[in-house]
Amino acid sequence: MNDIKTIAEKDRATVLHPFTQLKDFATGKIGDPTIVTGGKGIRIHDAQGHSYIDGFAGLYCVNIGYGRTEVAEAIARQAYNLAYYHTYAAHTTEELANLSDRLVRTAPGKPSKVFYGLSGSDANETQAKLVWYYNNLRGQPKKKKIISRDRGYHGCSVISGSMTGMSFYHDHMNLPFPGILHTGAPHHYWGAEPGEAEESFSRRRAAELEQLIVREGPETVGAFIAEPVLGTGGITPPPDGYWHEIQTVLRRYDVLLIADEVICGFGRTGADFGCTLYGMEPDLVTVAKGLTSGYVPLSAAIVGERVYAVMEEAADRVGAFSHGYTYSGHPIAAAAANAVLDIVEKERLSDRARTVGLHFLKRLKERFAQLEIVGEVRGVGLLGAVEFVADRQTKRRFDANLKVGARISKAARDRGLIARAMPHGDILGFAPPLVVSESEIDEIVEIAYRATKHVM
Ligand code: PLP
Repeated sequence: MNDIKTIAEKDRATVLHPFTQLKDFATGKIGDPTIVTGGKGIRIHDAQGHSYIDGFAGLYCVNIGYGRTEVAEAIARQAYNLAYYHTYAAHTTEELANLSDRLVRTAPGKPSKVFYGLSGSDANETQAKLVWYYNNLRGQPKKKKIISRDRGYHGCSVISGSMTGMSFYHDHMNLPFPGILHTGAPHHYWGAEPGEAEESFSRRRAAELEQLIVREGPETVGAFIAEPVLGTGGITPPPDGYWHEIQTVLRRYDVLLIADEVICGFGRTGADFGCTLYGMEPDLVTVAKGLTSGYVPLSAAIVGERVYAVMEEAADRVGAFSHGYTYSGHPIAAAAANAVLDIVEKERLSDRARTVGLHFLKRLKERFAQLEIVGEVRGVGLLGAVEFVADRQTKRRFDANLKVGARISKAARDRGLIARAMPHGDILGFAPPLVVSESEIDEIVEIAYRATKHVM
């Protein structure tokens, strides 16, 4: 390995890092890049000699933890046998057929077929095309608009970035794309009227969605996309009754439901899928992250019976399904996914996320809920968040310039814990690997608490 200084210099000179203040990085104001060299279980370490508990599983993806040799071996085996072949014109591999069979048997809704991509963003881009294709083929060419939610996160490509409901992802990038609309976030703490119960708030959000559909014209609205639990927009479980109310509206106007399970899928919420937990019956399902636990890139757009039936029925008329990537269904990624999902099943990681998650939320509440600067502590399964406010009574936010969330996250990091400052508001977010133990949870909460006390 080159010396640390050389690596840092090379990186600074050549890598365009996502979500990084470019000038601060170029001039060294935010220090050298962290050169990550290894990981085991819930911990990673860097070339500078630091070790961290990864309280965010990378980017909510390393659900099985770092350093699982079973997955490394499955990847190597497939690479030795056949590193690559494409899936165009009905080519496949055994790993891919097995993975697809597994997903169709276990995914929510009424899955029929699986289309593979490499990232959550491109899978949601595919979902948009599927909505347009489906409505074109069934003679409803105007039914193309897609509604997502404020604070939803669906990716960064042109359509998925437009679906993302936070304006700083759009600014200076010519987004959102026309025809992608947004409705209110399902966050009771911020959105409810004084005294409004969760169920009434959910009904109001559903009524707003209905008004939007009616205003636009139901014949122009093709789909609604949402994460079962809002993720990057602030780790926010839905209020009581929300999914029941929303689905009632969608059915009334023949609007497809795309469930973005990129974070929630494969156990994160304490159920196999977020949809299972909240009684959602999606037409299309997006998965990524936990599908391979981040060991290699892989995503999927899972197509439900209702949409697929129209596609197959129209095939004689329209010809081949003309969409796909060089790497759709890559055999190494499929082998990795099968090895990861074997672990998820064998170690019952959904159940574990539920039980350890209950302990996690309890500990977070015990430590944080009474603090003067904490507005809300929330979570489900192994997703958790603490939201900081300047005044609990009035719910006044901190001045953004104070960067309270970012400073607490930095203080946690200085103490050996990665907990993410969420991009929307002063929120410390947690999504540890699903293999985390209760005593490790205690350690995570304790470090986060000490970091908060240090900053405030
Ligand atoms: N959808 C959700 C819910 C996500 O959280 C993310 C990424 O965080 C994406 C889509 C985009 O996935 P990717 O970063 O792999 O493109």
